[in-house]
Amino acid sequence: MIFAEIVIDIDAGELDRSFSYRVPEHLENSVRVGMTVTVPFGRGNRERHGYVIGIRDKTDLDESRIKEILSVDSSDETTESHLIRLAVWIRETYGCTMNQALRTVFPVREKMKARETRQILLKMDEEPAGRLLGKLEKGRSTARARVLKALLSDPDHMLDYSDARKHLGMTPDVLRYLEKEGLAAVESTEQYRLPVRPEEIPQEEPKELNPEQKEAFSGIIGEWRGESCRPVLIHGVTGSGKTEVYMQLIQEVLDEGKQVIVLIPEISLTYQTVLRFGSRFGGRVSILNSRLSAGERYDQFVRAKNGDVSVMIGPRSALFTPFTKLGLIIMDEEHEPAYKSESTPRYHARETALKRAEMEGARVVFGSATPSMESYRNALEGKYRLVRLAGRHGGRPMPAVRVVDLREELKAGNRTILSRTLQEEMEKRLRIGEQAMLFLNRRGYAGFVSCRSCGHVMKCPHCDVSLSQHMGGRLICHYCGFQTSMPESCPECGSPYIGGFKAGTQQAVQVIQKRFPEARILRMDSDTTRTKGSYEAILKSFASHEADILIGTQMIVKGHDFPLVTLVGILAADLSLNASDFRSAERTFQLLTQAAGRAGRGNRVGSAVIQTYLPEHYTIRAASEQDYEQFYRAEMAYRSFLSYPPAGHMLFIHGACRDEELLTKGMFYLARFVRGIASGKSASVIGPAPEAVSKVKDMYRQVMYLKGDSGGRLLEIRRRTEEYIAINPGFKDIYIQYDYN
Ligand code: ADP
Ligand code: ZN
Ligand code: ZN
Repeated sequence: MIFAEIVIDIDAGELDRSFSYRVPEHLENSVRVGMTVTVPFGRGNRERHGYVIGIRDKTDLDESRIKEILSVDSSDETTESHLIRLAVWIRETYGCTMNQALRTVFPVREKMKARETRQILLKMDEEPAGRLLGKLEKGRSTARARVLKALLSDPDHMLDYSDARKHLGMTPDVLRYLEKEGLAAVESTEQYRLPVRPEEIPQEEPKELNPEQKEAFSGIIGEWRGESCRPVLIHGVTGSGKTEVYMQLIQEVLDEGKQVIVLIPEISLTYQTVLRFGSRFGGRVSILNSRLSAGERYDQFVRAKNGDVSVMIGPRSALFTPFTKLGLIIMDEEHEPAYKSESTPRYHARETALKRAEMEGARVVFGSATPSMESYRNALEGKYRLVRLAGRHGGRPMPAVRVVDLREELKAGNRTILSRTLQEEMEKRLRIGEQAMLFLNRRGYAGFVSCRSCGHVMKCPHCDVSLSQHMGGRLICHYCGFQTSMPESCPECGSPYIGGFKAGTQQAVQVIQKRFPEARILRMDSDTTRTKGSYEAILKSFASHEADILIGTQMIVKGHDFPLVTLVGILAADLSLNASDFRSAERTFQLLTQAAGRAGRGNRVGSAVIQTYLPEHYTIRAASEQDYEQFYRAEMAYRSFLSYPPAGHMLFIHGACRDEELLTKGMFYLARFVRGIASGKSASVIGPAPEAVSKVKDMYRQVMYLKGDSGGRLLEIRRRTEEYIAINPGFKDIYIQYDYN
């Protein structure tokens, strides 16, 4: 016997509950996950539609009480069925409940009432209507007369329904009379809330592609026309004109009558981006982002489903736009960490996009100046087609990058955060009225310890990631739990200048203001961008040269083009380089390249200064030479040596609990269980260890991780772990989350 799990009404967001139904024998071969079926529901057995979200061959319920599916209503090729199957894949790949997966692919849960406007239209010729008006005015029907008179005197013979009610005293009775006499009719139009107003955007013709763009474009079209259409990776330096190539690809797909999803990291989703796409595709474009109201978001999904919109631009979640004829998914800045969800299910939009595209026969284009290790590896192995844009559009030179060794500054007695080189450069630029951006990256910064004399960083001997400084001076590895005490002097050179790295944007502003009293400085970090619109306001103010220096966190790396910015300073490249994460070098290379890429985007030549204690580190070297290949090779060697992704696969198991002792015990048993099933499966188990942030909102947090050559085996281990936890009451109060690769 076969049973189907069914959710009754996806549109109303009733995803929390699913119901079991028996699949009758004659439907056994036709019921599949994602289909719509009709079932008897509730006490009255009213017929309702439901979606099949799972099929199994046993049930825990009393079989005699399980109702039967009545019929199958749809094929499994509807938008909903594709998305449900995508949810099943998300559940299996990233580890979560079916409910969480469904909520991910159907993100707009609340049905918002469409904004409706109703008009009353005159339906009779003016002359007979005028005669009737005369009659009415003689009688006692003043309200009827008033409405009719207003209709006749309106130039379009049209009244707004609610105006008529409010100002003319039109009651439903009056309206009924007018309709019965054939004088008037009500028409309603649904008005969608539009985040983009196409009529406000000046339309623009496609630009003529430069030779490099042309070659990239025709290469991609060639791939699409070929037999095995692979995903495409555009590796294009900053300012090479990737967006122009995207737009012409989009045009091709629209001409085929298909639809396009354009994913961008939320932070770069500025008004400027919207303008750029809007000016090319007008009202066919819409956007989704966290700043839209719930109603606006809902409307964008409805319009996409109706086919009113054919290009949807948005962050990660826009991937689930319910297009019925999806032809292309573009993922700009594909290396951005924001593409990975930080809450369960921790899906990666890159892999999920590939999966959705595969299911619906759509194509995928990734683009970046600094591709992720994963994507570049796939491209080199021929799984993706690699397309390069090696030069900036218009032959503009790439910025010249200089590296400053901060150890030398200390030797020369300079203990400020501004090296002598950077000071000189700033002075020069400010004198001639150009602008500078200073960049202090604190994201992922977890209190590493380093020597200011020789640059030595305290690292875990087993995992080769930085140790983090904890209360009481303990240094802890957040992968394996290795601990050591804070050294009094540098184990490399004996210098007493070893300690935590302290730096904040606020202190930096003070130092710089003191050094350049005349300069106008703007600061941009999470403190100054808390209120709505402040992010845009700061950028706009800087763009209109109301300040000379913009100092900020990684937020300033993206966004507007500032033609007057000719200098970019990276105050402490080591902050992200020494984060306790195996991807810290990759993130740093990306940030340095992107930040340097902000300089010289106008007509003036730009330069960048990178300050570091580790000038000989391969990341800093490759970034200063702006050599992606060089970085990739060195980084891949490190990943392979330690079996970190993409050379191997990793599964993190995070545990959180209010009771520290219970958590420690739970993680201990879990680790023992996992070691038991992992042995002989070529997977190693490391940890448990306290997380980088070991307590959040009174929840203690620990993590263990598994490394292995086969992703499939790790997922198999995760499935068995899920079962172990489900049947083991000891885990009732421990919240377990999974994070794959
Ligand atoms: P990327 O996204 O690769 O960093 P952009 O797409 O922002 O680069 O392009 C950089 C600049 O060059 C933009 O100002 C863009 O308008 C301009 N540009 C790109 N391609 C062309 C082209 N074919 N013709 C004219 N201008 C172009
Ligand atoms: Zn030292
Ligand atoms: Zn370790």
